[in-house]
Amino acid sequence: MAFRIRSGESRAAKPAAPPPAARNGPARPGSSVPLRLHKTRKEAELDRIRRWMEKNLPPPDSPEWEALCTHCGKCCYDKLWRGKRLLLLKSPCGFLDTVNNRCACYAKRFEREPLCMPIGPEIIEMGGLPVDCPYVAGLPGYQGPIEVDKTLDEC
Ligand code: SF4
Ligand code: SF4
Repeated sequence: MAFRIRSGESRAAKPAAPPPAARNGPARPGSSVPLRLHKTRKEAELDRIRRWMEKNLPPPDSPEWEALCTHCGKCCYDKLWRGKRLLLLKSPCGFLDTVNNRCACYAKRFEREPLCMPIGPEIIEMGGLPVDCPYVAGLPGYQGPIEVDKTLDEC
């Protein structure tokens, strides 16, 4: 399956702040580039999710992967950042058949819909899938988006 988020509100779109000098190791002699000796918290969390996915989910895009989806359709509704929380809104992607919760352009979804993204560690790290989605079932500490009874136009 896939995932839809308003890109202008994406946390990932913000430029990463440079790490504080105190957290960096010493620069190489003669270099003005600081040497970072450890991962950021976000990088470590992405690694944790990646390892969990490799151990607990079928390979992405395999028939077994696709079969996990229960077609609740929630990942195809608009999502919006409000502060540090991701909101799951009531407005669907224009390609979503809201009766059967099927995508009308599934094979070409990433070409046809710029907001559509494949499910992967980045989506899971931001809490983009509902907690009852099978792709995050059993992931320790997972928190999904907050479901809000508003459309994008009402926000
Ligand atoms: S089960 Fe998960 S991947 Fe499938 S439609 Fe629902 S939220 Fe999306
Ligand atoms: S293009 Fe299809 S898979 Fe992607 S968000 Fe829209 S309905 Fe969902």
